[in-house]
Amino acid sequence: MTPAARAALGRAKARLDGLDLYPRPVRMRFVRLVTAPWLFRLPWFRRFDGYTMWDLILVRAPVEAASDDLVCHELCHTWQMQHRPLRMPISYLLRGYERNPYELEARRAAALTSGSNPSHSSTGTRG
Ligand SMILES: [Zn+2]
Repeated sequence: MTPAARAALGRAKARLDGLDLYPRPVRMRFVRLVTAPWLFRLPWFRRFDGYTMWDLILVRAPVEAASDDLVCHELCHTWQMQHRPLRMPISYLLRGYERNPYELEARRAAALTSGSNPSHSSTGTRG
């Protein structure tokens, strides 16, 4: 993992550590943040700028260009999966994406911690 990815994950964790959504803080040991533009050319993924599979966070843009809000949102999904390893991913199959409670929670987590920089509170797609 690149130093930029490590730094971005560190900033995202610091934001999530200020929230008490789950009993334990997000565990970073196996978390990876990687750019994977090819993934986001596939039909299902085209709508997203980031996608998280447990400890693997994939982003469309080069890691240095990924917004802090996006990384925070995706790391929140990692946090959710650490506490709800099956229920969380299955909820997307059962309830879809847009109004999924985990999706809403991750959006809220990023919004609540986005601090004083309004240019970071973009409304881009998350995943
Ligand atoms: Zn999401």
